[in-house]
Amino acid sequence: MRASTVSEFSGGKLEATMAAPTTRSSRRYRNIVANLRAQGRPCCLCGELIDYSLRYPHKRSFSAHHLKSFSAYPELREDPANLDATHLECNKAGTGVPSRSPFTPRPLGQPSRNW
Ligand SMILES: [Zn+2]
Repeated sequence: MRASTVSEFSGGKLEATMAAPTTRSSRRYRNIVANLRAQGRPCCLCGELIDYSLRYPHKRSFSAHHLKSFSAYPELREDPANLDATHLECNKAGTGVPSRSPFTPRPLGQPSRNW
């Protein structure tokens, strides 16, 4: 009797990583926006009331604004605490600094000087 070495080849299965789409059109995001709209909040950028009967693309219509920028904080894109109501035109103006808001976002980093 001879001992035969059986080499086993384990065919590794690569599991496809589920990349959850975090886009503006996801169901979760739409829910957050619908919830925001239902609160009837004033514009967080100019402080004036929003006419929620106006529809996009009316410049005074409701728009959801990311307090922390959409691109810099991808993990906060669908965080309800990171979204507030604005006029479409205010949102597009992109000041990002609410004039009257209970939670004024502070800049996270001090701008450092380049020597
Ligand atoms: Zn506004």
